[in-house]
Amino acid sequence: MADIQRRKSVTVKIGSGDTNTVRAGWEAPVVVQSMTNTDTADAQSTIDQVEALALAGSEIVRVTVNNDDAAAAVPHIVEGLAKRGIHVPIVGDFHYNGHLLLKKFPACAAALSKYRINPGNVSIGRKDDDNFRTMVEVAVEHQKPVRIGVNWGSLDQALLTRMMDENNRSANPQPARDVMMEAMVVSALDNAAAAERYGLRRDQIILSAKVSGVRDLIDVYTNLAARCDYALHLGLTEAGMGSKGIVASAAGLAPLLLAGIGDTIRVSLTPAPGGARTEEVHVAQQILQSLSIRSFMPQVTSCPGCGRTTSTYFQELAEQIQNYLRASMPVWRQQYPGVEELKLAVMGCVVNGPGESKHANLGISLPGTFEDPVAPVYVDGHKYTTLRGDNIVEEFKQILDNYVVTHYGQGAKSEELVEVV
Ligand code: SF4
Repeated sequence: MADIQRRKSVTVKIGSGDTNTVRAGWEAPVVVQSMTNTDTADAQSTIDQVEALALAGSEIVRVTVNNDDAAAAVPHIVEGLAKRGIHVPIVGDFHYNGHLLLKKFPACAAALSKYRINPGNVSIGRKDDDNFRTMVEVAVEHQKPVRIGVNWGSLDQALLTRMMDENNRSANPQPARDVMMEAMVVSALDNAAAAERYGLRRDQIILSAKVSGVRDLIDVYTNLAARCDYALHLGLTEAGMGSKGIVASAAGLAPLLLAGIGDTIRVSLTPAPGGARTEEVHVAQQILQSLSIRSFMPQVTSCPGCGRTTSTYFQELAEQIQNYLRASMPVWRQQYPGVEELKLAVMGCVVNGPGESKHANLGISLPGTFEDPVAPVYVDGHKYTTLRGDNIVEEFKQILDNYVVTHYGQGAKSEELVEVV
């Protein structure tokens, strides 16, 4: 497997003081971030959701700061999280009135670890260009990094109109779509240059240029990456719901990440009603882990099942193991460093079960239809035991727990599970 050559971007530090400091850039691992969907003015709900996102593994969390109440709540949110031992950097997402809120609520400006500015709605390039400048100057005053986040749904219309007019007048006009993509890049770069003129350092600037089409995303980021060395935040905007959002995000982010482009990612999934916001964190992690860029949690290889697995037992076991791993990771991450590299196999029958199990650290092969009702378990390629009866799930979890403690616990590397069958 060829190594990924990361694009040499400037590294940006996000967070200081009471928060963990996260680095986004060439020298740091690709960072997973997420965004809340609570009303930020409701500090308690926002604290709860940020905590859930952080425990799921989000390394940065963004919150909307859209009015006075939200801005006033931000310091309480950061303080409330610290009281719970959650020190994830909080980013403020500003649109339209960020210049007013950051000036009116200095405690908010100080508590946030980064500001997101959308140049499409702070009027850069028009006569009230001072709004952008005001936000940057607050960032300079508080020494906060800024993400200049261009989004095609709110692209600077004055810039786009000018570029479309120029294109129409040119001898060789380009398709409107190409002009639009170029306007995204120009908007990001022009605003970054303006931010530097107003006092931000290059290592305080992250750029993004989000679109909702997969091929557009790949084109715009490939272009942007080639024309600057700013750290880049990757994400397919408005990715959608369920499998559509997950597949589109993976399809858009994977080619860029494999090309070494992208220093922090967010997966913008629309949650199902009542669905967990943390899903976007799991998907972002899974994209990075599937590409062997980072490891976040033990991986479960499971077969799709077929006519040899006529009951749902095999699917239930695979799901229970997956859920158990997710639930255990917040503690395991602290207590068992390296556990995220663990590989499990949960297979439906003996056709590929034992073979796949032998490639994993821990594997179980369930009985297919008409097979003996037994489940051989393999540990590091060797037959360890055979489970049978009604308690297979719990017994397999116990073997898993033992493996984690003996292989990733303090000073436990030398210990091994002893084969019992
Ligand atoms: S391992 Fe067995 S149950 Fe799973 S897909 Fe293959 S044949 Fe079917």
